[in-house]
Amino acid sequence: MKTSSVELLILDLLSHEQAHLTAQEIYQQLKPRLPAVNPSTVYRALERMAHAGKISVSDMGRGAMVYEAVGGERHHHLVCQECGAVMTIEDQPVSELFRYLEKKYRFEMITNHLILFGRCESCQRGDQDEP
Ligand SMILES: [Zn+2]
Ligand SMILES: [Zn+2]
Repeated sequence: MKTSSVELLILDLLSHEQAHLTAQEIYQQLKPRLPAVNPSTVYRALERMAHAGKISVSDMGRGAMVYEAVGGERHHHLVCQECGAVMTIEDQPVSELFRYLEKKYRFEMITNHLILFGRCESCQRGDQDEP
């Protein structure tokens, strides 16, 4: 099997509705389409693609890194540590901060997908359904 076809399938998977998937989830979803694929092939392909900048890797507090297709709108996330809600925020205020930091500290920013942890509005009110 050509590794490039694995990469194409991963990209296809991740570009669907801005999916954020762990390596394990990607493998599970790929298996029906590529029955012969093994986990290490998928993990190696993910590493290669992240290195090449085709996908981004982030820690969204789910116990494993999540992968996401790069491209389209740059965006960032607010993640609620209590209920796990993920909000997507626009890039503008973040890139303004990045430009300021790059200038001030002569630092070249590589992060392109920022994850900020906290508590969402309903968790602050303490009115979520689950105990
Ligand atoms: Zn994202
Ligand atoms: Zn919450």
